[in-house]
Amino acid sequence: MRPIQEPKVYLVAKTMLEPDGLSAYLEDIGSPEWRPDPTVSDSENLVEAAGRMCYRSWQPYDPQKPEATNPNVTTVRQGNDAYIGNVLKSGHGSVLEHACLTFICRNVSRVFTHELVRHRAGMAYSQESLRYVRLDDIPFWVPDSAKSNDQAEKKIKEVVDFLENTQKELSNIFGMADIQDFTTKKQLTSMFRRLAPIGLGTTIMVTGNLRSWRHIIEMRTSPHAEEEIRIVVGQIAEICKTRFPNFFQDMQLDEDAGSWTFGHSKV
Ligand SMILES: Cc1cc2nc3c(=O)[nH]c(=O)nc-3n(C[C@H](O)[C@H](O)[C@H](O)COP(=O)(O)OP(=O)(O)OC[C@H]3O[C@@H](n4cnc5c(N)ncnc54)[C@H](O)[C@@H]3O)c2cc1C
Repeated sequence: MRPIQEPKVYLVAKTMLEPDGLSAYLEDIGSPEWRPDPTVSDSENLVEAAGRMCYRSWQPYDPQKPEATNPNVTTVRQGNDAYIGNVLKSGHGSVLEHACLTFICRNVSRVFTHELVRHRAGMAYSQESLRYVRLDDIPFWVPDSAKSNDQAEKKIKEVVDFLENTQKELSNIFGMADIQDFTTKKQLTSMFRRLAPIGLGTTIMVTGNLRSWRHIIEMRTSPHAEEEIRIVVGQIAEICKTRFPNFFQDMQLDEDAGSWTFGHSKV
């Protein structure tokens, strides 16, 4: 068993504006005065633009600007913070789907990945393949709930070492070292993984839109969720709160429970 550190999350990609395209559109509809707020993220500006496009609410009604304004809209909400706050309050969350964040989750187990991939709506996944990667050196994170018990920790290590040796024995039984054919090696490696522990450390890349991330954070940092997914999604929540404060303005950490709660659940 190769002991590994606690799971870790990296934000690796986010939605970006194409400023020239947005400016050209605003010019064409006659509202070039509206500008993205340079103090907030592109994602938050994009979501505001999506909402303003829906209602032609780039600015108060101006009969000279029929494509940019609307007689039903005589005043417009100012500021990205207030605009997104109103989207969240009214529950019109579909505009949040335009913005996506991609994370790599490292040193996570297959327990975690099985749970994460249950989230289907608005999500995309790429996971380390166990058809290719040999498991004769099993990375394993011992959860805190086991670390507090020496006997349990020792037992976990023994079992993982046994399974690791089983991988090596199977490899010898099938003469893996002498097999040249890649397809045969892949087939055997894939068969061996049936005897690997579900707690083995792996890596997954996950992309989700902001509407989905809000839902996942609420579900998976709840005290009812599993220890590891609470740690990983808790890290994602902290990144979201810091980097995209307007999207997460109604999200609060309950320090005692270690969970993130929302003023506007499931927008
Ligand atoms: C504490 C906890 C315990 C759990 N225990 C179990 C368990 O014992 N067994 C088990 O199998 N699972 C369990 N799960 C997983 C859970 O049942 C969900 O599969 C998982 O949380 C994904 O959430 P979601 O269904 O909201 O899907 P998401 O894909 O995140 O979808 C988001 C929302 O979109 C809508 N949506 C998505 N797909 C559809 C659809 N096809 N039709 C209609 N609406 C849709 C729903 O409103 C849904 O809530 C558990 C989850 C938690 C948090």
